[in-house]
Formats: sequence, structure tokens, C-alpha cells
Amino acid sequence: MHPYPCQRMLGFRMCGIRLVMGLAGLLSLQGRFNDWEIILLEQLLQKIQVFRVQREEEDRVIWTASKDGVFSVRSLYSMLEPGGLPLFPSERIWRARVPPKVAFFAWEASWGKVLTQEQLQRRGFSLANRCFLCLSEEETVDHLLLHCIKTRVLWNLLFSLFGISWTLSCSVKSTLLGWTGGFVGKRRKKAWQMAPLCIFWTVWKERNRLAFGDEDLSLQRLKYSFVCNLWYWVRGSLAESHSSIVSL
Ligand SMILES: [Zn+2]
Repeated sequence: MHPYPCQRMLGFRMCGIRLVMGLAGLLSLQGRFNDWEIILLEQLLQKIQVFRVQREEEDRVIWTASKDGVFSVRSLYSMLEPGGLPLFPSERIWRARVPPKVAFFAWEASWGKVLTQEQLQRRGFSLANRCFLCLSEEETVDHLLLHCIKTRVLWNLLFSLFGISWTLSCSVKSTLLGWTGGFVGKRRKKAWQMAPLCIFWTVWKERNRLAFGDEDLSLQRLKYSFVCNLWYWVRGSLAESHSSIVSL
């Protein structure tokens, strides 16, 4: 075979055969072949025949895992994760207009990595696992932030503020995944998006106060803290002024 003329040549060696490919997409072979090399060569030609060389474009590195050919951590993660990206409430966490430390806490809670007593036990700490709020159930992240009878007071308060009925999911992650809020209206949407993260943060702060302080739980203080936090964050994100969270 004779090499085709071309402006630029790309050469490489395979199975001891010198292969030369020009910009025109034509392949020339230099050297002598063994029988087994011809089979490999046929396989190679079949593999590359679907590709067309673009003469007008400069050569560049393409990341095939993303549509635009540009590397992204998301596409790499998608490649590494069998079956594609797992469902995770990233947008619900990072798009809510809450302070970064609150969003990070929600992110940790969604992964189940908050240092509750259950997590400490898993890490080898020997302790009696009991929820600091209700003093009866074991303290897991889902119990503490969703299902604890004391935490439920805040969830019920939130649902009454919005005038809706809602069933919480079993886990923090699935609760946030299902936290759709199109029905609350555009005006109250930001508050609705912030609300679960605000409950998580308020409960966690109260839990730590009970765990490391010397006080009893006050539901009044818990509710007041939740409403103040939520109102403070909502007010900071609104263009127009409102007198209270109820007037939204
Ligand atoms: Zn509890």
C-alpha cells in the first residue's frame, strides 16, 4: 500500500506495523504483516471506519463522557456510578437561599453523615443511644430531623403556615427530593424552599444545646427560633417588604 499525500501525518505503531494516518482520514500501512496481524488490522479498520476526520477543525482533546466534549466532575461521577447519577436533592439544598453552613448541614444530613449518636456508635464510641429531644427513641438523623415527636411540632407549624397537609418521607434525602412547591405560589416559593433546611438547622442547634448544655427542651423556644430563622432568611431574599412571614 502506498501512503496518501497529506498536510500532516499522525503515526503510531501497532503489532509491529507502522500505521500512518493523514488528515484526509486515509490510512497507509508500512511494513510486512504476519497472518495474525492482519486479523488485528481488520479489527482496527472496522473500529475506526465510523469516524470522519474534520479537515476544517483543529485537533483537540475531547471528553466523550459529556455532550459538549468538555470535562466535568459531574460526567466523571456519572461514568463511575453504575446506572448513571443517583437521585440526590442537590438543587433543593444548594439553590435554597440559606446561609452556606445551613446548606452544608442539609447536605451532610442527606448523606446520613451528621454526627448523631447512631453515627458515633458506628464509629466505635460506646454510648447509650437516646434522642435528646424526646428522650425515648434512638437518635438517628432521620428520627431527629423528621420523625421525632418534638421535631414534628415544627413540621406541623410549617404546614399550618402554608395551609397544607403533607406527608413526610422516611429519610431526609427522600423528603428533600419530594419537596416540590409549585402549589405554594411564586411569592411564597422561596420560603417554602428554605423551610425544611431551616427546620433541620433549628433542630440540630437545639439538640446540641441540650446535649452540651444543662437545660431542658422548650417547645416555645424551638418554635420561636424556627420562625425567626426562617423569617430572617426570607426577608433577606425578598425585593419587597413584608411585615411578617404570615403576610407573604
Ligand atoms: Zn426524638
